[in-house]
Amino acid sequence: MALMPKSLRNPAQAAIALGSNLGNRRRHLDAAVAALARAAGVEVIETSTFIETPPFGPRGQRDYFNAACLVRTTRSPHSLLRLLRRIECRRGRDRINGHRWGPRTLDLDLLLYDAVVIDTSDLTVPHQRLHSRRFVLEPLAEIAPNLAVPTFNRTVRELLAELDACEAGA
Ligand code: ADP
Ligand code: MG
Repeated sequence: MALMPKSLRNPAQAAIALGSNLGNRRRHLDAAVAALARAAGVEVIETSTFIETPPFGPRGQRDYFNAACLVRTTRSPHSLLRLLRRIECRRGRDRINGHRWGPRTLDLDLLLYDAVVIDTSDLTVPHQRLHSRRFVLEPLAEIAPNLAVPTFNRTVRELLAELDACEAGA
């Protein structure tokens, strides 16, 4: 009897960051969560509240709506990244004309995937800037404060506390 692939027997838990600062920001985030919930091999466990945060990068942009989402998935990390890009694209994300960190209808980033560490040209997990972004850590801490962040050897709550301390001392 053929062995079932490990990924199908043991779904992974992944965390996804959502952001929007163009168009109907709330609707883009709602649509992204609905698309994740509909996607094969993905089950949405919990979604944070949406927070409004000032943009970084080029000036003159609107504030962002940010959120985080926890999913169980049988997809590989790269398959999940492709799914996130498809969902971004369907919500009108323009990667060709859009400046890096410029306004976007929808930005979906893969933050964490179990205890997996990946460093390839198109995918870094844990997400490279997870530890330094309050607009990522705050919503994630709301739904998964005790989630372990590999390479940092900290929980999400601890990373947020360190960011607090760092900013208080700055
Ligand atoms: P941002 O850093 O603001 O999310 P983009 O969404 O334009 O910027 O992503 C830039 C690149 O980051 C993409 O081409 C993607 O392949 C790469 N990338 C690397 N790691 C990740 C990750 N964990 N989640 C999403 N994109 C990632
Ligand atoms: Mg992105």
